[in-house]
Amino acid sequence: MKKILQDLNYAEITELVLSLGEKKFRADQLYSGLMLGKKISDINISKPLKDKLLEEYENEPVRIADVFKSADGTEKYLFALADGNVIEGVLMKYKYGNTQCVSTQVGCRMGCKFCASTLNGLVRNLSSGEILAQVTVVNALHGGAAAKRAVTNLVLMGSGEPLDNYENVVSFLKNVSAAGGLNISPRNISLSTCGLVPKIYDLANENLPVNLTISLHQTTDEGRARTMPVAKKYTIAEILKACEFYFEKTGRRYIFEYSLIAGENCGKEHADGLIKLLKGRPCHVNLIRLNEVKERNLKSTGEKEAYRFLGLLEKGGLSATLRRQIGSDIGGACGQLRASYLDSDK
Ligand code: SAH
Repeated sequence: MKKILQDLNYAEITELVLSLGEKKFRADQLYSGLMLGKKISDINISKPLKDKLLEEYENEPVRIADVFKSADGTEKYLFALADGNVIEGVLMKYKYGNTQCVSTQVGCRMGCKFCASTLNGLVRNLSSGEILAQVTVVNALHGGAAAKRAVTNLVLMGSGEPLDNYENVVSFLKNVSAAGGLNISPRNISLSTCGLVPKIYDLANENLPVNLTISLHQTTDEGRARTMPVAKKYTIAEILKACEFYFEKTGRRYIFEYSLIAGENCGKEHADGLIKLLKGRPCHVNLIRLNEVKERNLKSTGEKEAYRFLGLLEKGGLSATLRRQIGSDIGGACGQLRASYLDSDK
């Protein structure tokens, strides 16, 4: 694979263009073209510069290979990377804007029992430019320009554990929020992690006030370890302490994802456990009914039971919502699309 030009920020692009003996305005043209999701070959720059760049850099690091449209307006994408790997992404349409879910790794090594992304382990990290290009190509697909973005919000909830690819994810966050680029505010970006505690502290110190989301899914360490191997490494108490630090540093309230799995984490004792853990903290709980993954034998909670659980949390004084299940008709859960693609490939 060649290098990824989208890994570079504006200053680095400028330096590169100047080093190739070109004028500075060419760097501006190149950078805006990249931010508009264009292939190098389609950007309005001189032929000699294009040729020089194409010798070393991938023309199209992320290509939309397939689009699946849900009845509710959600779109799911299968992206092809330059080395033939595939990843997936989703665009969800809301009244206030469009939220894109991006992937940070090909596969994942966290091993959560309910998740399809981790079924075949980690293949590789995505570079910051490969994460950024997912956004620029989807923004372009929807007619977005730098001045008027079609993608307004981002969630790092596609395949991969963002904090397991820390350097690249932080570069991506800086580049996607850069003023001259897509300029998506960190406040409109949510980073979701299964709880890699030391990296939560690192992130808090980056001065990038993204919304921190923790995949909790249980109320005790033993219970959590049943579906999330990472729970053997970091305790819930350690995670909560890191969240407090994150709040102190960024002023951002944090969010807990809690996927409701039948017979596993949605009894009265779990509601009580959550209330005990979280009451009085500047946080919110996002409940979502499990998206059943065919390779796993875990079952989703019924809708009625989910609302009952929500009611218990609210009565206990927690701020909580039950997320609408969107796009489930198109394999909305993490990694389902890629898994079925790999399956059909076999
Ligand atoms: N690795 C990160 C981000 C990716 S997953 C993390 O663990 O947070 C995004 C969210 O979807 C996480 O909360 C994850 O636990 C949850 N998730 C994964 N598979 C799911 C499924 N089948 N049904 C419901 N939620 C799921």
